[in-house]
Amino acid sequence: MRGTCLRPKVRDRRCAYEHDVRSAYKTAETEVLFDEGATLPPISIRLGDGELLKIRGRIDRIDLAFLGERMYFRVIDYKSRPRAVDLLRMYLGLSLQLPVYAHVIEAASEALFHAPSQFAGMYYVPVYDPLSELKRDEEAALSLRKPIRFRGLGLANRDVLQLLDRNLPAAKDLFPQMLTKTGIHTNAMVVSAEVWRALREHTLKKASELARSMVDGVTAIAPYQLKQERACQNCNLQSVCQFEAHFDERQMRVFKSIAKDDVIAQLNVVALDVREVQ
Ligand code: SF4
Repeated sequence: MRGTCLRPKVRDRRCAYEHDVRSAYKTAETEVLFDEGATLPPISIRLGDGELLKIRGRIDRIDLAFLGERMYFRVIDYKSRPRAVDLLRMYLGLSLQLPVYAHVIEAASEALFHAPSQFAGMYYVPVYDPLSELKRDEEAALSLRKPIRFRGLGLANRDVLQLLDRNLPAAKDLFPQMLTKTGIHTNAMVVSAEVWRALREHTLKKASELARSMVDGVTAIAPYQLKQERACQNCNLQSVCQFEAHFDERQMRVFKSIAKDDVIAQLNVVALDVREVQ
């Protein structure tokens, strides 16, 4: 028993080690609650009609790094499975967690760190017990010695991205397709500061729309489908909702896949609106 419990922790420590020694980031806070009476207040969003939506949650980890006088933060969320960060899913409102967390940190930077900080990225980090799933497959177990890859969305600034790993761009084990010798890799998951601000506003708007429909009692069973992914695949409520995709196909909300550049173009429109309001 003792051995099985310790194994994942040993693996996690070994694989996290590469990030610890090669990254300029240091963990500043863990398990940060934002809620009534907690360290940070909940996010309040107006729904109209005087109603207020309060979003509460817990941020797994906040890391800080410095570039000159500027302080940058990245937010980390641990997941039991590797999960990619997809700008389109965020844009469609299917993945709001990380941008909401990043917004909370930005808004509470003075309270948390006694100084303003800038968004540098948001990442999912897989932490799971792979050995239980590998059924002691020796070859696969060897692959576990590879360092953990953070998957996320970063700020499109070469110097800021370099803070992730001082061995970039030569080393590609932690952040493949991130930097080139002179710039940022074309496939890097990054957005400009302006697009990040637009994504943040868009996320809050999506959260407000979702809450509005809940308050209005919209209970239609209409799971989404995006490419091969269906909401029902990760849901264990099928025995309750009785939804059968084969029979109820017309009820699916099928989202069209949009290229990253087109999503960014849409967000740039939001960015213009945000600028005008400010
Ligand atoms: S299984 Fe039912 S509740 Fe779950 S996502 Fe599908 S339709 Fe919604």
